[in-house]
Amino acid sequence: MPLPVIAIVVPCYNEEKALPFSSAKLLSVLDCLVNDGIASAGSYVLCCDDGSRDGTWELIKSLHDEDARIKGISLAHNRGHQNVLLAGLMTVRGHCDAAISIDADLQDDPDAIIRMVNEFRQGKEVVYGVRSSRVTDTWFKRTTAHAFYSFQKKMGLETVYDHADYRLLSARALDLLSEYGESNLFLRGIIPQIGLECSVVKYERHERVAGESKYPLGKMLSFSIDGITSFSAKPIRFIFMTGLILLLVDIVVALYVLTAYFYHQTVSGWASIMISVWFFGSLMLMSIGIIGEYIGKIFVEVKHRPRYAIKETLLD
Ligand code: UDP
Ligand code: MG
Repeated sequence: MPLPVIAIVVPCYNEEKALPFSSAKLLSVLDCLVNDGIASAGSYVLCCDDGSRDGTWELIKSLHDEDARIKGISLAHNRGHQNVLLAGLMTVRGHCDAAISIDADLQDDPDAIIRMVNEFRQGKEVVYGVRSSRVTDTWFKRTTAHAFYSFQKKMGLETVYDHADYRLLSARALDLLSEYGESNLFLRGIIPQIGLECSVVKYERHERVAGESKYPLGKMLSFSIDGITSFSAKPIRFIFMTGLILLLVDIVVALYVLTAYFYHQTVSGWASIMISVWFFGSLMLMSIGIIGEYIGKIFVEVKHRPRYAIKETLLD
């Protein structure tokens, strides 16, 4: 079996401080892969500039001049981590046997790449990089991130715990990924849906090598909400369930109101208003919930997601 060509895809947004370190480190990882005889010498790094406003693209060009194994693409303007990552993955699709995505800040241990490639050679098509600990993240980042994971799960979004976008995808996984036409991209939700044989590689999460995070709390929150609403119509069902529960509460309220009406002196009009407010409130919520169910269906339809992924065929 010929040695696999590995493409390392690196999203870069204003990373001129970190990129000199990370490109050197990734090249040395490529050297290791080649020297260990587990990857082809044609393996390369693709730096994907996400419309940076600093000298990132100029830096990528000069890195490419020094070593042709560093390749690059540059987006016309900033489209965000998920989109630039997809751009990179679709660029290497058809030009590699496996692609590994990794951030430009060396927070994710690049040495885990070697273990990922070994898993790939054992036949795994998707290898998730999973953080073994988050000690170097601030307490706040760690706690909020974990809260997001469990909230997402409750809302019906299945993701791999403590896995960000550090992963290996086989050529076939890339082909299948290319069939997802949605513009609201949330790769952490899509990749598990593809459903190919997968495994996990654990690594230590480090501090950023240089520069600062482009993912403050606000962006993380909107990313998480984006993820949930792209994958699940559960929040809509909650509206319906709330209406249904209120309808049950209505019965208790109505009993109370009627008892008060018949046994005590109540202000005239109070009983009828009380009952109608509660009754119509729950009716309204349930109606919105039912309409929401249909909107949820439309929402899933317009995504035109592939309905199945064929893994192997025996047709001849
Ligand atoms: N990034 C990007 N476009 C953006 C924001 C970030 O390509 O609009 C890249 C960034 O250069 C880095 C990766 O996405 O390689 C992760 O970003 P960062 O390290 O700032 O996020 P954090 O690790 O703090 O969550
Ligand atoms: Mg980072």
